[in-house]
Amino acid sequence: MTSGGKVFRVVIAGGGSAGLTMTNRLARVFGATNVALVEPSKVHYYQPLWTLVGGGLKSFEQSAKPMGEFVPSNVHWEKQNVSGFDPDNNKVMLENGDHLNYEYLIVALGITPDYQRVPGLLEALETAPNVCTNYDAKYVSKTFPAIQNTKKGTALFTHPDTPVKCAGAPQKIMYLAEDQIRKSGLRNDVDVAFAHPGPAIFGVKKYAEQLAKVVAEKDIKTYFHHALKELDYKNNLAVFHNIKEPDSPVKVSIPYEMIHVSPPFKPPSPIASNPKMAAAQSGYLDVNTQTLQHNKYENIFGLGDNINIVSTKTAAAAAAQTGIVQKNLQSVMDKKKPSVFYDGYTSCPLVTGANKGILAEFDGNGEPLQTFPSFFGQHKEKKIWYYLKAHVMPTLYWYGMVKGPWTGPKALRKMFTLGMGR
Ligand code: FAD
Repeated sequence: MTSGGKVFRVVIAGGGSAGLTMTNRLARVFGATNVALVEPSKVHYYQPLWTLVGGGLKSFEQSAKPMGEFVPSNVHWEKQNVSGFDPDNNKVMLENGDHLNYEYLIVALGITPDYQRVPGLLEALETAPNVCTNYDAKYVSKTFPAIQNTKKGTALFTHPDTPVKCAGAPQKIMYLAEDQIRKSGLRNDVDVAFAHPGPAIFGVKKYAEQLAKVVAEKDIKTYFHHALKELDYKNNLAVFHNIKEPDSPVKVSIPYEMIHVSPPFKPPSPIASNPKMAAAQSGYLDVNTQTLQHNKYENIFGLGDNINIVSTKTAAAAAAQTGIVQKNLQSVMDKKKPSVFYDGYTSCPLVTGANKGILAEFDGNGEPLQTFPSFFGQHKEKKIWYYLKAHVMPTLYWYGMVKGPWTGPKALRKMFTLGMGR
């Protein structure tokens, strides 16, 4: 399929949670023939379900649907990778050497696992049955068998020392594994341990306090300030740097029977390799963190995991951002200034067992920004939060978000606070 030199009103780079949602919205507003999407994958995954796939509570198939069901007919769909951007000439470069011309560009390429940063990790994921990760469609189905096969020793879980999507997911799978091992009657034979490069179990105090209690109740051993640096998988040893003293990190090797690694991530190369598109320090897309407009090019917007905000890499954040981008894009098209502002909202339903969880929701300052009135106790372990995560959110995602009008729970929050909340 070629675009024949056409200039699209909007080109959307990346058709994941953020890009696919924008494609559907903008096709309705501007007409499908004026919109182009560049996305190589024929399958769309609801990645948040992978926590439950790894925990043996949902099947991998339940997380996947054909991409074609979600790309509106008459949208120009390039089924290949973006290879680069030429923002001075309003062009998106394609893997096959062609390019697309745009008036406005939306960049939503997600983030890329950086397996090479941990020597041994990729080989282990390819070959060792006791090394797994929920963070990749290719490997998530290894997780539950690895948990089931752990009969002694240590089940080890890691959190990376880079930005990560859904910062709660590295520990959610640990709680599910602990539950499974306990139910199998093997908890006295298996230690469960969590290694995290930071100083606490979670970045938001209100939820961290509750999670610390969960960790204590479940007798989980924690290694804070520990960053995974190497996997000696032939000897079942995970090598960490204790980074409490960053200038002279101490090397620590932890033996494991099974390990779930949440890998380091990096920005997508078409962004990171282009100084006009990327923020200098991080390599992520250089957007204004409130308007989501590019800091150098007013006809470019970004949303989802690839933007230059560390704390908000979730589908829930992407949903909230779609509403902001749509309104600000329209303002710029109308020759006005962007006028709506993203507050950094993100959400993380922290499953703490096979039928319970905590519903963390917070803003860009790490302050709780909760949908439900406080007497619901979102920070407390409850069945209802697990039910929302496992049963309500997938439906909301497939039918409310990627195809529909869902832009996050702000309206609900306002309703519950009689219009007085943020
Ligand atoms: P993605 O959905 O990852 O999409 C990026 C898209 O860009 C992909 O389709 C990819 O094929 C495409 N792409 C990449 N490179 C190129 C290129 N060069 N050219 C063209 N296309 C390209 N979020 C929550 O809200 N709640 C949760 O409980 C939760 N749990 C999670 C658990 C796990 C295990 C994982 C892995 C994620 C979880 N998330 C959760 C995070 C959530 O899935 C992501 O934050 C969300 O998908 C981000 O959307 P995105 O569109 O930015 O990126």
